[in-house]
Amino acid sequence: MLELLKEKVWKLHLELPKNGLVKWTGGNVSARDPETGLVVIKPSGILFEDLRPEDHIVMNLNGDIVEGKLQPSSDTASHLYIYRHRSDVNGVVHTHSPYATAFAALGKSIPVYLTAMADEFGGPIPCADFALIGGEEIGQQVVDNIGSSPAVLLKNHGVFTIGPTPTAAVKAAVMVEDVARTTWLALQMGQPDEIPADAVAKLHYRYTHVYGQH
Ligand code: 13P
Ligand code: ZN
Repeated sequence: MLELLKEKVWKLHLELPKNGLVKWTGGNVSARDPETGLVVIKPSGILFEDLRPEDHIVMNLNGDIVEGKLQPSSDTASHLYIYRHRSDVNGVVHTHSPYATAFAALGKSIPVYLTAMADEFGGPIPCADFALIGGEEIGQQVVDNIGSSPAVLLKNHGVFTIGPTPTAAVKAAVMVEDVARTTWLALQMGQPDEIPADAVAKLHYRYTHVYGQH
């Protein structure tokens, strides 16, 4: 079932190592099918190169497995918590991308020093508190701290991103790492100025309403 969505989530999983966002089996992607409300998620602890579309697990929002033989991702309960609390979200991504996770290790949010951050995130990338892996506590931290941003850092752990589609959530995960890396490089040379909030709002509006092809 949901063959097209499984194929999509599989392809998106391959983007994580391709973009340097994960190593070995860390990280995961899920997608909600807007029609059935069912969620497709990664099986736990499988190498990305070994992953096949049919390995993905189909679940309902209560965590019942609807289809799939493998054990679902350890972050499943948290992904499902996010979907239950954010009806606008149809894609959730988790990574340990190194530059962003370095900020997370310190419990530091990433301020808006770059127009790319204002464009993409419309504000700082917040850092949520530490939560244990396995239950829905990580999902609670994400929902409580992400605000209107597509991304949040998770103290001592990594990155969670959300989007109206799974592709948008993966794009946000790529952009988080890109801005975290540039921010870290800048911090090696000095203390950058933050972009004023009114300019951040204008940049974000332009990027989301004017930029690109129409
Ligand atoms: P899974 O392989 O179970 O998805 O776990 C990866 C991870 O990053 C846990 O937070
Ligand atoms: Zn993790």
